[in-house]
Amino acid sequence: MTLGMVILGRQGSGKGTQAIRIAERFGVIHISTGDMLRAAVKEGTKLGLQAKDIMDAGGLVPDNVISGIVEERLAEEDVVESGFLLDGYPRTAGQALDLRSFAHENLQLAINLDVSIEEVTERMLNRGREDDTEEAIARRLELYEAETAPLLKWFIDEGILCVIDGRGTEIEVYARIVDAIEGKLQ
Ligand code: ADP
Repeated sequence: MTLGMVILGRQGSGKGTQAIRIAERFGVIHISTGDMLRAAVKEGTKLGLQAKDIMDAGGLVPDNVISGIVEERLAEEDVVESGFLLDGYPRTAGQALDLRSFAHENLQLAINLDVSIEEVTERMLNRGREDDTEEAIARRLELYEAETAPLLKWFIDEGILCVIDGRGTEIEVYARIVDAIEGKLQ
């Protein structure tokens, strides 16, 4: 069985940066739904056209659309061989159920990178990404609390949630995550 993990955390918690390092460290494929959607927007695909306005407004792409993309990606050879680290998915209860239906056996760990709302807002305003307007940030954080935070309970019930303090330097946080994964996989 290959290693399957998800990383959760508010927007701006540093999960994207950590996900890249963690995936490399444990030899799994990093799958970021945000990156996939941004690539689709850039290429002007049908998916991109569908997603652009939703993303600009800080909304969520419909569950069936995003779950379809993730399911396809998980079935590709590199992921089947090496395992995965999902970043940005699941984000709703519906997506969590979808994920369970197509990846339950491999899902071994959910990392929640914990950083307060105040701190992530400040970090996001400073990073200056195109979709990081103050309004969109507030909307995304609201949606996170409403849709994604309840998933933590779901992962606790599955017995796979691991909460990591996301404050401090990138290196400090990385070390905490590595320790937690190694502890869990022993
Ligand atoms: P952030 O963590 O700042 O929201 P992401 O790169 O994860 O950034 O996602 C950017 C945008 O892409 C989101 O605001 C949302 O519109 C869309 N998106 C990404 N992942 C999902 C998902 N699992 N379900 C619905 N929409 C998504």
